Amino acid sequence: MEPATVVKTEAILPLSDRVNRIAPSSTMMVVQAADQLKSKGVDVADFGAGEPDFPTPEHIKRAAVKALEENRTKYTPVPGLSPLRQAICDWHKRELGSSYQSNECVVTVGGKQAIFNAVCSLVNAGDEVVMAAPYWVSYPDIVKYAGGKPVVIETNADQGFVTRAGQVEEAITPRTRIVIVNSPSNPTGGVIPAAELKKILEVCQRHGVWLMTDECYSHFTYGDEKPFSVASVPNSKSRLIVIGSLSKTFAMTGWRVGYALGPQPLIAAMTKLQSQSTSNPTSIAQYAAIAAMTGPMDSVPVMLAEYARRRERIVRGLRAIRGVTCTAPAGAFYVFPNVSACFGKQMPTAALVASQLLENEHVALVPGEGFGAPGFLRLSYATSMDRIEEGLARMSRFFGQVD
Ligand code: PMP
Repeated sequence: MEPATVVKTEAILPLSDRVNRIAPSSTMMVVQAADQLKSKGVDVADFGAGEPDFPTPEHIKRAAVKALEENRTKYTPVPGLSPLRQAICDWHKRELGSSYQSNECVVTVGGKQAIFNAVCSLVNAGDEVVMAAPYWVSYPDIVKYAGGKPVVIETNADQGFVTRAGQVEEAITPRTRIVIVNSPSNPTGGVIPAAELKKILEVCQRHGVWLMTDECYSHFTYGDEKPFSVASVPNSKSRLIVIGSLSKTFAMTGWRVGYALGPQPLIAAMTKLQSQSTSNPTSIAQYAAIAAMTGPMDSVPVMLAEYARRRERIVRGLRAIRGVTCTAPAGAFYVFPNVSACFGKQMPTAALVASQLLENEHVALVPGEGFGAPGFLRLSYATSMDRIEEGLARMSRFFGQVD
């Protein structure tokens, strides 16, 4: 085999300022480190990856196979197949009470591309984008890539990590372009009550600021919480961008299908950007997505019931560890315990706790720093009950030994 060509770092530097402003996704890095250990045969209790451990429902897979067999493997229109855009609007209307038409919808390579393209279509150098910490890892970096400035407001565990409209209003300046909300939240599982979301919308409208609502976990809410979209509020549409994803709702992370709903001129700008970068999302994944959006939703309550069982167990287990406090998540499939009371000389940061947990106990989880919450750890409980039991036992042993 030919040896890999070694390119001297200086030969390719300097890289662009734009790319130097961002860091690799910290969740992706944990997934990589855990996968490396697994490939060496190590038994990892993996709470790292934020993806359902359920298979994609059968009728969705069938639709992709059928599309393949029918040679639907060509380019599609850049913003997605017309029937898919229509199916997404119909689904969103049925499930979440909005009223969009297909030219107000663009299909993207996952919800991540929808966020990226929306931010790049709206933000100029120096514009501010308001987001609440703990935030999803990619928001600040996407904003920085676009030349904008993330403005972070703090939420706290005692109040279920809920963003309040008053905080949003205080953070808005003449430079604010977008406010991002994410309910249910990754990483906290926090759910913003519908009444509060309406107030946040009202604040944004009063200040002429865009509201971006990331609904990737919309259908995973526990107890009395129900799926809610601020797009169901009358007259909400003029400065609202809805971000959606099939990744979690339909256990389709690898298929890479997401979407944005919003005013037509913004959707047109996002489509223009897409036309000069990725073009359309994969054709056969789009046919599968049509089946997801038009077919039965019965896999969702099945997954949700299982997540609810695991949530109960993991919260109880974490609370039993000395020094760990843990708010019960109201949605999504993450817990976000505060471990700062366990910090000591040997392990002063969450990043070090996470790396030692991986090294010593083979427990994979994501440290809070990347979410703007340095006292916390994020655990995904989209993993089997057995693995949860095993991981909790290892964590108890680990934290029991911390000085
Ligand atoms: N938003 C949030 C809050 C997420 O957690 C994720 C995935 N982890 C995404 C957006 C993007 O998901 P995808 O690109 O897989 O649709």
